[in-house]
Amino acid sequence: MIVITDKPKKLDDWKRSDETHEKWFDWRWQLSHNIHKIDDFEELLGVKFSETERRELEKTLEMFPMAITPYYLSLIHPEDRDNDPVWRQAFPSVHEMDVSRCDMIDPLSEDADSPVTGITHRYPDRVLFLVSNYCSMYCRHCTRKRKVGDVDFIPEKEDMMKGIEYIRANPVIRDVLVSGGDPLMLSDKRLDWLLGKIREIPHVEIIRIGTRMPVVLPYRITEDLVNVLKKYHPLWINTHFNHPREFTQSSEKALARLANAGIPLGNQSVLLAGVNDCPRIMKALVHKLVKNRVRPYYLYQCDLSEGLGHFRTPVGKGIEILENLIGHTSGLAVPTYVIDAPGGGGKIPVMPNYIISWSTNKVVLRNYEGVICTYKEPDSYEAWFCDRNCASCKLQLKLDSSAETRSVGISQLLADHSKAIALIPENNERINRR
Ligand SMILES: *Cc1c(COP(=O)(O)O)cnc(C)c1O
Repeated sequence: MIVITDKPKKLDDWKRSDETHEKWFDWRWQLSHNIHKIDDFEELLGVKFSETERRELEKTLEMFPMAITPYYLSLIHPEDRDNDPVWRQAFPSVHEMDVSRCDMIDPLSEDADSPVTGITHRYPDRVLFLVSNYCSMYCRHCTRKRKVGDVDFIPEKEDMMKGIEYIRANPVIRDVLVSGGDPLMLSDKRLDWLLGKIREIPHVEIIRIGTRMPVVLPYRITEDLVNVLKKYHPLWINTHFNHPREFTQSSEKALARLANAGIPLGNQSVLLAGVNDCPRIMKALVHKLVKNRVRPYYLYQCDLSEGLGHFRTPVGKGIEILENLIGHTSGLAVPTYVIDAPGGGGKIPVMPNYIISWSTNKVVLRNYEGVICTYKEPDSYEAWFCDRNCASCKLQLKLDSSAETRSVGISQLLADHSKAIALIPENNERINRR
């Protein structure tokens, strides 16, 4: 049980008082006033936990520490805290201690796919580059929960150079996804250095930054920061809004600043039980996003990391949400729903089914309204044999990239030029008997 005390919320004083008013908008002041202790949480929000609950919470904190920026804390409505989406994302729950059999420390095998510290190289042409171990707010649903509470640090330049050297030495890498922790925990100066180093590498076409700052500490998005970022175009930013309540004047201003600097913005949400597992909430969220020039990019099924059990929903909930978005609203506002496959298989898109049946020249489809229709396929389509020799093809691909002729996975099974007829798991008994 939580009791709302009659003491005034200290947080309101903080925000109001002349002395701190200026500082409130200073991201460094916010960071140095991060809330780590239950005492401070109680005092700032004017709430009180029972002794039992407090003991349980303290135990949770030993395993998974807490950090909340005063800004993000100020979005909480404590009167209805059990249902408050901000509270649930920021404040520990005793359920984090319930570890089930399917939970894993590193479900995405990010550490196993890491050739050098900081780099995860999973997909052929792009890498994840973790440049900070450290966030302004510790999301309770963090997929990298295993690392939360390790000593907060930003790697030394020498360590970052190892990642940069790896990218430089691998010309297949055309896309570098700078993430963390939160990369915007780096100072402007260090970011300027890091982005400059990455941009120097000729084969890197795009740089992406993943950051939750516009949501949990929008004051970090200063004019100075944006002036650094815009030197390194093409640069994309993905942020992480989960609920419409996270939109405020400050966060909208931060997004506008980034968009005005020509930075294309995307959003990655996580489907979270008790926070946003509702088609109407999701629709309101994606509408807020596109109004602020942010393209909903991914909706993630909650990972199997330890301590996240209470946040997970069935996959059907995500499909139901997509069923309520596709066709019902702007295509621009519909994210791709993905399950990040345990074991490092990467992101797998999941959707409602729209194809009902198929014959040799007709496809039967259903639309979002339930109307069933047919698409008549062409009677004559000249399918020419593709030997991946683009230089002699009548279609015009006269680019360097036409040199890439390898095909992988299912696309290999479809390719004319490949002799592969099946993909067979290693140690298949039937094949071994042959
Ligand atoms: C998500 C992710 C990427 C980027 O994937 P996109 O689908 O291109 O956004 C790259 N590397 C790793 C390890 C990832 O988890």
